[in-house]
Amino acid sequence: MDCAATTPVSKQVFDAMTPYFCENFGNANSLHSYGRDAAASLNTAREKIASLLGANSTEVYFTSGGVECLNWALKGIAHAKKDKGKHIITSAFEHHAHIKACKTLEEEGFEVTYLPVYEDGVVKSSDVEKAITEKTILISIMLANNEIGTIQPIEEISQIAKKHKIPLHTDAVQAVGTLDINVKNLGVDLMSISAHKFYGPKGIGVLFIRNGLKINKLIEGGFQERSMRGGTSNVAHAVGMAKALEDAIAGQEKNVAHIKKLSSYLNKRILAEIPHTTLVGHKTRRVPQINNFCFDFIEAESILFRLDMQGVCASSGSACASGSLEPSHVLMSLGIPIERAQGSMRFSINKNLSMKDIDQAVEIIKEVVADLREMSPLYPKDQTLFKEIKRNEKSV
Ligand SMILES: *Cc1c(COP(=O)(O)O)cnc(C)c1O
Repeated sequence: MDCAATTPVSKQVFDAMTPYFCENFGNANSLHSYGRDAAASLNTAREKIASLLGANSTEVYFTSGGVECLNWALKGIAHAKKDKGKHIITSAFEHHAHIKACKTLEEEGFEVTYLPVYEDGVVKSSDVEKAITEKTILISIMLANNEIGTIQPIEEISQIAKKHKIPLHTDAVQAVGTLDINVKNLGVDLMSISAHKFYGPKGIGVLFIRNGLKINKLIEGGFQERSMRGGTSNVAHAVGMAKALEDAIAGQEKNVAHIKKLSSYLNKRILAEIPHTTLVGHKTRRVPQINNFCFDFIEAESILFRLDMQGVCASSGSACASGSLEPSHVLMSLGIPIERAQGSMRFSINKNLSMKDIDQAVEIIKEVVADLREMSPLYPKDQTLFKEIKRNEKSV
């Protein structure tokens, strides 16, 4: 139950990729037949992805994945437009890589506004408009949050960005296969996606860059990607990504219906059968595959290890990448108290799970949470004390 971290490569994607390792292994920049074959396959993959995104093939740039896309979009636009202004608008709960790239830009003298996401984990488009100044050169807001799944009003924000003629980037990594990611419908100028989040290979992503937009390079090198991103083209992965995107969009309706059914069942049972548990973020404005719960009185790391021992793989929302006990910036941005955030677990449902899997998982989760609470000094054994705690929480 951790498909928000990564997904397996599907058999169909794997089969599409395999000829490009040992047989059709040419360098797409070579002029001989092996090279020309590779270039043709790369081109086909690019065109397929472009048409699936509603883009032109000259607007599709292959990268090494989501993190590179985010770095490129932010630093590339900032550096290209710094003479016009040095102000960037984003949200407080973007992906780690995005926040870190913003911090680096702040060190370089850029000013970044981190918009609040409130208790429900949704950016208000009116806040975006209020934050705009004459110096604003980029707005970057994610489409679906990777820790809690909430969906941001990108179409609304796009209207505002267009009115003020400011480029808009969205991190759509968690949206592929569940939301509409057509760049025309979204109205974005830049968009990041990554193949391994939708049953494609790890290490490849696409940054959509609208034609005519001024952006600097991130990776210097050869003439690959219209001279905008150096490095020998990864043809096998590009072919795999195109196939994975095609399958994700073709299967979207069916998969979303299936995942919704599993997720709402999971939510209903967890919230009804495990006391002192909350679902994080907006109840309905969310991608169906991501469910984040706070289990009060216990720590997520302990839950994670105990679940893993019983075959349930999930993710602790409280641990930051370094593995310290610092709660995640996403949960903090929602104003969740630290004690509660420390018991945050993300269960993300991949399309291959069944109702039976969810049933089994719920039984295991119930048992693990009850066991850990039994051992927790924080857990009031006398249930009448809960009234007292509730009253105190209110007065705080
Ligand atoms: C996974 C993820 C990324 C990073 O993508 P990689 O391809 O793993 O570098 C960026 N943004 C979001 C929302 C993600 O979920």
